[in-house]
Amino acid sequence: MEWRPYRLTGHGTRPGTIGTTGTVLPGKTFPCAYCKGTGIQVHMRSQCPVCRGKGFNEVSSAVVCAFCRGSGEAQPRSHITCPACRGKGVIGVKEPIEKCDVCRGLGRVTGSQLPCLKCKGAGVFTVKKR
Ligand SMILES: [Zn+2]
Ligand SMILES: [Zn+2]
Ligand SMILES: [Zn+2]
Repeated sequence: MEWRPYRLTGHGTRPGTIGTTGTVLPGKTFPCAYCKGTGIQVHMRSQCPVCRGKGFNEVSSAVVCAFCRGSGEAQPRSHITCPACRGKGVIGVKEPIEKCDVCRGLGRVTGSQLPCLKCKGAGVFTVKKR
């Protein structure tokens, strides 16, 4: 199977439509959302605190963070790391997963600035085996 690197910020992709939330992404390494894969925290001109300068993060069984939609920021251009994914843009999950019924997969409840309590911003939650 051809491995295609997952891009958080593909060309021609409108902000807010990055990636597909609610599905486990292929691969285990993902470009760091917070520094856009550069390893440098641009506005501080220092090493990216999220990936520690590597430019990527290793997450097994990752889904796009529904809370920030993969931007890694709590608010667009806020330079505050997303509270749900801590700036990675992706969140590690354990399969099997199911779309969160509390936030309807959005990672947040309308009117709240905090990640959804049930899925913690991932938009999906691990289905517990009975
Ligand atoms: Zn980074
Ligand atoms: Zn996030
Ligand atoms: Zn939720």
